[in-house]
Amino acid sequence: STILYNDQFVPRKEGKVDIEDRGYQFGDGIYEVFRVYHGKVFLMEWHLDRLQRSIKELYLTLPYPIQQIEKNIYALIEKNSLIEGTVYLQITRGATSRNHLFPTNTNPVLIAYTTHLKREEAVVKDGIKVSLLDDIRWLRCDIKTLNLLGNVLNKEKAHQEGSSEAIQHRGDIVTEGCTSNVFIVKEGVLITHQADHFILNGITRMYVLELATKLGIKIEERQYTINECLQADEVFITSTGAEVTPVIQIKDHLINQGKPGPITKQLFSEFENEIKRMEKV
Ligand code: PMP
Repeated sequence: STILYNDQFVPRKEGKVDIEDRGYQFGDGIYEVFRVYHGKVFLMEWHLDRLQRSIKELYLTLPYPIQQIEKNIYALIEKNSLIEGTVYLQITRGATSRNHLFPTNTNPVLIAYTTHLKREEAVVKDGIKVSLLDDIRWLRCDIKTLNLLGNVLNKEKAHQEGSSEAIQHRGDIVTEGCTSNVFIVKEGVLITHQADHFILNGITRMYVLELATKLGIKIEERQYTINECLQADEVFITSTGAEVTPVIQIKDHLINQGKPGPITKQLFSEFENEIKRMEKV
């Protein structure tokens, strides 16, 4: 396959990382995952905006203008004949002799590649079981950084517990999943953690909030407790990969008697309609 290395398109095996790249040594960089449906990037502008925000928050610089990055993403999709899948893109602070301090001359390194990914119909229809784990991450979860150890450890723990995701909490407050945002529904109200430093403001999260507004569903962006989550009428997670996925079990506690709830289904079907509409544009 062809990858993007800075502004060059090269074969996958030519994508070499310097042993002193700060992304490799410190996790000093940011990333973005774009979803491709029907050969088109879903919510491209939103992802590019978040990418620029991540760059700014870490005092990184783009190796070249965002408009050119956007063009290169499309060229990469084209070169790999990608119809359904993702584009993974990361930018690190580059390579210099190892030192915690920022290098004076930064040469950021950008790489991007595509993966094929089919939509998982069954998971979406049936829902998933999740674990409930302590959120052990740092206090800037709003930045999409390469530093994912907290997420990785909890995702692995969830897997070992037979779950496909973990709902994480700080003390009594539910934050988000390891790779997703968490929504609950109580008496017709859609509730999700506000976009602050404790969560990544997911593109899918924002999109679902927009869909909910359109559908006239009442929304509350606020902190909610583990107990509110366990007592919720419905629970679901959102992410670029998982779209809208119902949660039907948290540890050994069933949600909505183990079935996806009506508001979850409504939001999912609206989401699906939008994807289908993309095919025609
Ligand atoms: N939270 C975390 C910690 C994530 O890693 C992700 C993305 N995988 C999300 C939320 C969902 O974000 P998005 O909808 O932009 O994929």
